[in-house]
Amino acid sequence: MNNFRYKMAQFFSGRTGIDALGRTVTWVALILMLLTMFTHSNAIYLLAMACLAYSIWRMLSKNYQKRYNENQLFLQKTVKIRAFFSKLVPNVKTKFAKIQYDFNQRKTYAIFKCPSCKQKLRAPRGRGKIEVTCSKCHTVFVKRV
Ligand SMILES: [Zn+2]
Repeated sequence: MNNFRYKMAQFFSGRTGIDALGRTVTWVALILMLLTMFTHSNAIYLLAMACLAYSIWRMLSKNYQKRYNENQLFLQKTVKIRAFFSKLVPNVKTKFAKIQYDFNQRKTYAIFKCPSCKQKLRAPRGRGKIEVTCSKCHTVFVKRV
């Protein structure tokens, strides 16, 4: 088994392997094959086979530099499409960062409401009794933070 692995590694060394373009073409081939099952269209089937053959040929190609340039060109041409798809996926990272930011704010700032207009205000914690002037209605009141 290890010998097989070694042989595979040797076989793939110096070859292009799978990059973004290769992955996309493979996906297109799979989608076209699914379409073939539903439509029984020979044209779609041939296109699927062509995509598959192309992706395998790319993967095994030893002209790494040329394949790299193709991939770069592909990435450039699909910037807008990829941006569109990444927008569809909810940005969990940003949301998490916001929650963390709020949490840190609450740790360092006391958040309270103005007694007269209910405007949300904040002041650094740990200062004891302070005089607060509301930023909205300019009411002055004393608050322990
Ligand atoms: Zn106020």
